[in-house]
Amino acid sequence: MGDFLLLTPGPTEVPKRVLDTQSVPMIHHRTKDYQAILERVNRDLQRVFCTAQPVLTFASSGTGAMEGSILNLLRRGDKVLSVSAGKWGERYRDIARVYGLDVKSYELPYGQAVTPEAVGQALKEHADAKAVLLTLCETSTAVTHPVKDVAALTRNSGALLMVDAISGLGCDELRMDDWGVDVVVCGSQKGLMLPPGLSFVAINERAVKMIERSDLPKYYFNFADTLKALKKNDTPFTPAVSLVRGLEEALKMLLEEGMEQVWARHERVARRVRSEVSAMGLKLFAQRASNALTAIVMPDGVASKDVIKTMRDTHKVIMADGQGELQGKIVRFAHMGAACTDAAADRGLTAFRDALEKAGYAAAARR
Ligand SMILES: *Cc1c(COP(=O)(O)O)cnc(C)c1O
Repeated sequence: MGDFLLLTPGPTEVPKRVLDTQSVPMIHHRTKDYQAILERVNRDLQRVFCTAQPVLTFASSGTGAMEGSILNLLRRGDKVLSVSAGKWGERYRDIARVYGLDVKSYELPYGQAVTPEAVGQALKEHADAKAVLLTLCETSTAVTHPVKDVAALTRNSGALLMVDAISGLGCDELRMDDWGVDVVVCGSQKGLMLPPGLSFVAINERAVKMIERSDLPKYYFNFADTLKALKKNDTPFTPAVSLVRGLEEALKMLLEEGMEQVWARHERVARRVRSEVSAMGLKLFAQRASNALTAIVMPDGVASKDVIKTMRDTHKVIMADGQGELQGKIVRFAHMGAACTDAAADRGLTAFRDALEKAGYAAAARR
């Protein structure tokens, strides 16, 4: 780990093991050596995504895969139900709008979680909807939406369940095949412990069937071409070779620990952070808390940017401010991926307590 400790909800800390694998000499991607790496990576991605379905990898930030999922699985004019309670749910909705889909937007106040009943009602009202767009961990509010319960509704409907799991995957439990989630989107720089630059989309058979009827324009994010190449452990375009080598190592680390243990570690560290913060007399923002990060409401008279600045300048701990309407009002304390350890949480809590005290909040001092 470097001088600074990244307790931000992306990018996150990259373990040395993963960094080291990226500094080896370059290899060419149209070779048996690279194919062998890709074969292992594709297999391990399936285990981490809890699926037997193909997981496509792209050189892009997570948003690229979100856009790709809309472009490839839907058709101009298709009705989609967007369920959002934060900035990232809104992004998925906005991408669908940009491409001319008929978006029915269900918006809840920031901090709340979607209820399966509301999604059930929306599906009844719009029986012709082709997809439901949902977020596993809404990183702007630290809420985790009930993906499993929503999947129980969509799997018997005509609508695909498309989940933005960019920050949630590897932190909050997600069992794609068991739960019947059709599409899972992810990015490299959060729970997967990699630098930014890779995005992923896992698509099940129901979703693959939708590719053919899609008439939206696409070139780089072409799932049909990517799937065809994947079967030969190849990619249509030049892959991000160094990042993929890092990915191989990161996946190995996750699987050595085991996904259930990885989720349990996140749950344990998240519970600890939440309970310590509550004991300081502070309010948590999320109604249904994700294990990837904790959103802490700033007490009256304390600005989040001052707390964040003290943590950075005095403790070399980096946390994130709120986004959009929440800017200045919350501090987002991430405990995802490689930064999800007791030691990192301790350092974060110490820095946070000190910064609050320096900002004039007394309750923290009593601890
Ligand atoms: C970080 C994040 C994104 C955006 O990913 P980029 O890699 O910045 O494109 C999308 N959705 C969620 C839930 C995120 O946390």
